[in-house]
Amino acid sequence: MKRLEELKQKKIHEIISIVKLTSLLFSAIALLTYFFGEKNRTFAMPNTYFTLISSITIMLLLTSIYTIWAFSTTKKYNYKHMRIIKTIENGAFIFIFCIAILITGGHTSSYKFLFLFIIITTTIQEGMKQGLITAIISSCIILTIDLIGGSSTNVNQYFENDLIIVGVFILTAWPLGFYVKIEKSHIEQLINQANVDGLTGLYNHRYFHENLREKMILSEKENQPISMIIMDIDYFKYYNDLYGHQKGDEALKRIGTLLKEIAREKDVVARYGGEEFSIILPNTDEAEVIRIGEHIRKKIETTYFEGEENLPNGKLTVSVGISVFPDKAKSDVELIKSADDALYRAKFFNKNRVEIYTSILDELKQDIEEKHIDLVTSIKTLISVINAKDKYTYGHVERVVVYSRLLAEKLNLNEDDKKALIYGAYMHDIGKINISEDILNKKMPLNNEEWNILKQHSSNGVQIIRPVESLKYLSPLILHHHERYDGKGYPHNLKGEEIPYLARILTVVDSFDAMTSNRPYNKRKTYEEGIEELKKCSGTQFDPVIVQEFSKVILENKDSLGK
Ligand code: GH3
Ligand code: MG
Ligand code: MG
Repeated sequence: MKRLEELKQKKIHEIISIVKLTSLLFSAIALLTYFFGEKNRTFAMPNTYFTLISSITIMLLLTSIYTIWAFSTTKKYNYKHMRIIKTIENGAFIFIFCIAILITGGHTSSYKFLFLFIIITTTIQEGMKQGLITAIISSCIILTIDLIGGSSTNVNQYFENDLIIVGVFILTAWPLGFYVKIEKSHIEQLINQANVDGLTGLYNHRYFHENLREKMILSEKENQPISMIIMDIDYFKYYNDLYGHQKGDEALKRIGTLLKEIAREKDVVARYGGEEFSIILPNTDEAEVIRIGEHIRKKIETTYFEGEENLPNGKLTVSVGISVFPDKAKSDVELIKSADDALYRAKFFNKNRVEIYTSILDELKQDIEEKHIDLVTSIKTLISVINAKDKYTYGHVERVVVYSRLLAEKLNLNEDDKKALIYGAYMHDIGKINISEDILNKKMPLNNEEWNILKQHSSNGVQIIRPVESLKYLSPLILHHHERYDGKGYPHNLKGEEIPYLARILTVVDSFDAMTSNRPYNKRKTYEEGIEELKKCSGTQFDPVIVQEFSKVILENKDSLGK
């Protein structure tokens, strides 16, 4: 929309420049008329040729200056001090017209119409008020020339005639200005409608992106942080299914109102999608945006929505994802993406929750040599591709990382092992990139051949990170995360303590998430059922000590993990 407006302004600017240029040419004609039409001379000129040449030079100079000024500065209308520049420009034109009129006979001149040019252009560009002011100034000039220049008898006649011209001036500025005003307010209304979401009255998705781009440029210039909140209503499909879309719409409207109330004046609140909202928070740091995010979450949790008692959580809630530029994201695209990632994490753990974006990759980058940073970044891309391919394990990596963090604390791992476990958890499935979507998402149990392909993912993963020297220490984790404690796992049939300790930990965590999340076949288990299963396979598939500690971790963190 802004681009359209700019385009329109540019076109108007072009046409107005042409009109102004034409008026300058008319003034030049007036000048020539003066020199070649002896009779009309008002003033005696000492040196005709000298004056002629200098006048034409001045006219040409003015015309060329104006041409360059008008057409080379296409973004002229963006200047901060446009008002002053325009006033000076108009003043210059009025001055030139006065000269043209004075030298072509003053009160008898037929060039009084020149003022119409400046009246029309000013009215179109600056509206009725400025147009009328210009018309009045022009009228006063003409009438003054009549009064001063003419003899007492024929002044009245010129004065009378010029009253008609004055009428024309005013009658040009007034209705034209009125039309410009109506058109402007009409366009404003349209722009507003195009920017606002019809249901909630918040800004819409399109405006959100447009505004974010602008705010980013500004915050970069001013070196200020800019925060982003993306939120999604929990179980909203359920709510709609229970009470119908109309009740759902009411809830959306209500949430829109609450958001507007909570947001500060400088914030931009938008409906990002169906039941997703986003807020741009300029000049806002992490601590502040977390406070606002938590305030929103709490407000919606404590607001009563009709029938919310029948929702899975017993109330209507939202999950909130947060990110901050430039700390967590380096561009507008990254800012949205990272806030979205944080939102997904909030969803995976309990919903009704505020999550700030954290990137394992950013942590990892601190431990990686400079020359390998790009490779590590492409690992992130690989993981996103795997997530997209393997729809059943969406969020799997993120959850395994969270469990690993908790378990690392419980097992008192030293800092190096802790990092290795977390990074290993992040990359353990990276070898799945080579496996087809059909195998990853197959609903039936895999046949032998497919199974063999799937089993290759641990050794493939090692191949992928091989070029990165500083990631080599993660190879044992990736390679052996499918070994079994009884030696019946893959790829090397390692047994018991032959399996690296961290890989044994990862096996337990990885398997637990596989059991408790959606899988192509096998029903999803509850956390309790998952722990039961781990215990059942303790000593055969899993290291018994690790199972024991992990069970404790899950029970202790059940609430925050959301089950
Ligand atoms: P989750 O907690 O994971 O977010 O679950 P959910 O049910 O909210 O799932 P999801 O976000 O995928 O569902 C979006 C639902 O929002 C689908 C649709 O029923 C509802 N929805 C989207 N736009 C509108 C709308 O304009 N009006 C109404 N009433 N419902 C909408
Ligand atoms: Mg949604
Ligand atoms: Mg939802």
